[in-house]
Amino acid sequence: NSVVAIVGRPNVGKSTIFNRLVGERISIVEDIPGVTRDRIYAKAEWLNNTFRLIDTGGIEIGDEPLLIQMREQAEVAIREADVIIFLVNGREGITAADEEVAKMLFKSNKPVVLAVNKIDNPEMKEQIYEFYSLGFGEPYPISGTHGLGLGDLLDRVLELFPEREDIPVDEDVIHFSLIGRPNVGKSSLVNAMLNEERVIVSDIAGTTRDAIDTSFSRDGQDFVIIDTAGMRKRGKIYETTEKYSILRALKAIERSDVVLTLIDAETGIIEQDKKIAGYAHEAGKAVVIVVNKWDTINQHDHAIKEFEKNIRAHFLFLDYAPIVYLSAKTKKRIHTLVPKVVEASENHSKRVETNVLNDVIMDALAINPTPTKNGKRLKILYATQVAVKPPTFVVFVNDPELMHFSYERFLENKIREAFGFEGTPIKIYARRRN
Ligand code: GDP
Repeated sequence: NSVVAIVGRPNVGKSTIFNRLVGERISIVEDIPGVTRDRIYAKAEWLNNTFRLIDTGGIEIGDEPLLIQMREQAEVAIREADVIIFLVNGREGITAADEEVAKMLFKSNKPVVLAVNKIDNPEMKEQIYEFYSLGFGEPYPISGTHGLGLGDLLDRVLELFPEREDIPVDEDVIHFSLIGRPNVGKSSLVNAMLNEERVIVSDIAGTTRDAIDTSFSRDGQDFVIIDTAGMRKRGKIYETTEKYSILRALKAIERSDVVLTLIDAETGIIEQDKKIAGYAHEAGKAVVIVVNKWDTINQHDHAIKEFEKNIRAHFLFLDYAPIVYLSAKTKKRIHTLVPKVVEASENHSKRVETNVLNDVIMDALAINPTPTKNGKRLKILYATQVAVKPPTFVVFVNDPELMHFSYERFLENKIREAFGFEGTPIKIYARRRN
């Protein structure tokens, strides 16, 4: 998934262009919960290519001097983006600040498309020529307020996307990542897992700019930990612009089979935890909830029960996810984690037999009659599993409109009871079949 960043000095119209691109010329595929308020990222699509768009203008860095802010924004774009849209203001000509930004982008060696904004009518096109001197080739005239020139600009952006070599993913290896807000203990847990005696760390598989991948094996099973936390600790920028670590987490989630979503037992659950966990759920990944810092909690049975009740109430959408309580610090119960990861991963890629599935569905129909709407009853003809990761089922029916949400939920529960899909979401779609 390629990343495009819009960079430029203040007031050239970065956010207008961002909103334009997201709102009209390209369609939003998803709005990422939690960051939509800031409108910093959007997953977008142009000519069947999906990419993520970043508006660096959305970073608020208090009252630091402008130059430092620009530098920081450019640095984020340079690190995160595959292609950079360098935005200038066609009505003001080249300013010293533009030249400053140009200098930073030059050094990055990233592909840059120069867009000249506020060219609101064809007569103004003359004004773009002076921008050749910035050294980024042909300037693209655009108008954010009138929505002009954006298609040509995006065509050019697409041309500059890096060729993705398809690195074959070894299906026998379980890829997992750890997500959670700062200080929940992601780095500590990665270290604790890798230092566990039953684990053999075979090699450092490769380091991307988004994450550090480490392979290890345990009891004959190979794993790769996709570690974004360690990355953040390395670069100074990520301490100040934590928002950008969300993008990194999203990319890590995309590459994962299983996502460990961490909660801090000491501080309890906050809104941010839910948003972060929501990313894993939406991506259709297997999920294990890890309650870390369990050493700080008094160790009674009822403490676990209370905690569990609390988690279930907050994470209704993760009702399939097992919960593991542990301490990265004291290593207590840390050995219970890997088996849960394995189980979740197996369930995530599990296939069930069609005839057994249909027996389960028929039994379900016998217990709970299908819903009716306007006097018409839902008829279920048969069901089949069409995909794994996550397990996805199609139920053929007389009329999909009659499939009520609560009935779908009931079928999901019956399928779960029968086949045990702990740790993985499952999807059910109703399709018409006459
Ligand atoms: P990250 O930001 O999620 O990577 O969190 P870190 O791994 O850097 O941990 C943040 C802080 O929490 C550090 O001071 C750790 O020592 C502490 N910490 C991590 N795990 C535990 C734990 O299990 N128990 C306690 N008491 N502290 C922990």
